[in-house]
Amino acid sequence: MQRLGLFGGSFDPVHLGHLLVAQAAREELSLDRLFFIPAAQSPFKPDQPPAAPLERLRLLRLALAGKTWCELDDQEIRRGGVSYTVDTARDYQRRFPGAQLYYLIGGDHVAQLPKWRDAADLARFVEFVVIPRPGQAETPLPSPFRGPCLKGFPLGVSSSQIRARVKAGRPIDHLVPAAVAEAIRNNGLYL
Ligand code: ATP
Repeated sequence: MQRLGLFGGSFDPVHLGHLLVAQAAREELSLDRLFFIPAAQSPFKPDQPPAAPLERLRLLRLALAGKTWCELDDQEIRRGGVSYTVDTARDYQRRFPGAQLYYLIGGDHVAQLPKWRDAADLARFVEFVVIPRPGQAETPLPSPFRGPCLKGFPLGVSSSQIRARVKAGRPIDHLVPAAVAEAIRNNGLYL
């Protein structure tokens, strides 16, 4: 049975926290493939439109270059509007019947899961994998959601922190891959 990881988020921008999560998920869940799925617009950040989709995709491509087990899925961007995980999960169910689907979710989102659109369907389609974030107690999944919790590698980096640092003219080296830092600079993002 194929084991597929689905990693949704704004990725505005992608950072090393995301990449370490990907690596931990691959190892701990023995994933065959892991899909990064950038949202067009998160339902949880309605007042915070992210950087243009093409810019976020460009940064993701740079971050994932050479990682053959990682793939970039732009379906939420192509659909446009507010991105709902259940629509994406349905698509994977249809395209990969019989595969085990793992959806990665930061510990900071777990409490809200029951409020996600079509939560009962979503709980049938995928297992959720809780990603620890430093300084946060382990959050058990509320019923009917199920799935494991990742161990490695909690890193206190967030996209909002990167955006704030760029705006303040502070370096973001070692927080994002070098090619991502360069592209952010060259394209004048987050100023
Ligand atoms: P922002 O700071 O803008 O809210 P973010 O850094 O949380 O963004 P997202 O793109 O929203 O990044 O994150 C996608 C997913 O990755 C979410 O489930 C989030 O909880 C998780 N995540 C982000 N950063 C980390 C990190 N450093 N460690 C573990 N999980 C993370």
